[in-house]
Amino acid sequence: MKIEINQFQIESFVDIIQNSHSVVIVPHIGPDGDAIGSCLALTGVLKSLHKEAKIVIPNEFPDFLQWIEGSDSVIDFEKQSKVAKGVFASADTLFCLDFNDFERAGDLKNLLSGFSGTKVMIDHHPGPVADCNLLISYPEISSTCELLFRVVEAGGFLDNLDKAASEAIYTGIMTDTGNFSYNASDPETYRIIAKLLEKGIDKDLIHSNIYHTFSEDRWRLFGHCLKEKMVILHDLRTGYLSLSKEELKQFNYQPGDTEGLVNYPLMVKGIVFCALFMEKDDYVKASFRSKGSFSTNEFSRKHFNGGGHTNASGGNSNLSMTDTIAKFESLLGEYKDELLNSY
Ligand code: 5GP
Ligand code: MN
Repeated sequence: MKIEINQFQIESFVDIIQNSHSVVIVPHIGPDGDAIGSCLALTGVLKSLHKEAKIVIPNEFPDFLQWIEGSDSVIDFEKQSKVAKGVFASADTLFCLDFNDFERAGDLKNLLSGFSGTKVMIDHHPGPVADCNLLISYPEISSTCELLFRVVEAGGFLDNLDKAASEAIYTGIMTDTGNFSYNASDPETYRIIAKLLEKGIDKDLIHSNIYHTFSEDRWRLFGHCLKEKMVILHDLRTGYLSLSKEELKQFNYQPGDTEGLVNYPLMVKGIVFCALFMEKDDYVKASFRSKGSFSTNEFSRKHFNGGGHTNASGGNSNLSMTDTIAKFESLLGEYKDELLNSY
């Protein structure tokens, strides 16, 4: 069914933008291509409308996204908290992009909930809970970037979206669909891509900038993890990977280095559910992916204090790595029927 964006939401979006002077834009913690892409694209549109627009991110974002125009002026709250607070203090409008709950903004969450200006959230994660003046939430849409494009176009701002902003939008759509391998069956997505191409983007170059810029260490980390750490449980159609702090150190881990790694067990024939567990300083970060009907979002919400989408979610565990993996394995039995019946 064709997804239509509510006209009232479009009118409010236009109204808010027209009445704004100074805008702060925030993505979720651990910003990915969709989060950074949507923030940079919206900044581009706002600047072309002669608005003051600044992006404040909760923590750093991967190197492979730093070619996108405007990346160098993003303010990292972890490193520049004073500057970030100043931006919040002088802003009249806040945009929250690619997350559905202030809790997902890490240490920025108090600045978000305490913000006294106009708050807008544009997102595609199910079950938004944030308190905002305008909430544009469409979980059926591939990415926040695609949703933002639709809103910008419907609001009459397509001429304000230049080539650089179009590259940012394409980056988000491409990365959030695993290079068009999931959540990418809506013909509208490709009509939008046609319009981005008309804006002059070089999609092959963007692909190469994102996917073909591994450091040698990063690729060897993938190799190590797949060779030594991949566990495949054929009878449960599940696979998982894990990386300890020592292993990450051994391969000189940089933020973003494990991006995409979680998907590899799904490439094994018959596997429909997979996980990656990564040891952090005081918790274990979990990433879940699935194919078909198995809901990683429900699994992650229920057992790993997390959430996300049906086929891609994340969460965390306060247990040790060994205990986290034992918990994961022991839960799978409960889901055996669902896993066996997923396509
Ligand atoms: P990733 O596994 O790549 O970190 O995240 C996959 C998806 O799950 C993304 O849409 C991300 O926003 C969401 N996600 C990751 N970690 C968490 C978490 O701890 N809580 C919630 N609610 N969502 C998460
Ligand atoms: Mn997204």
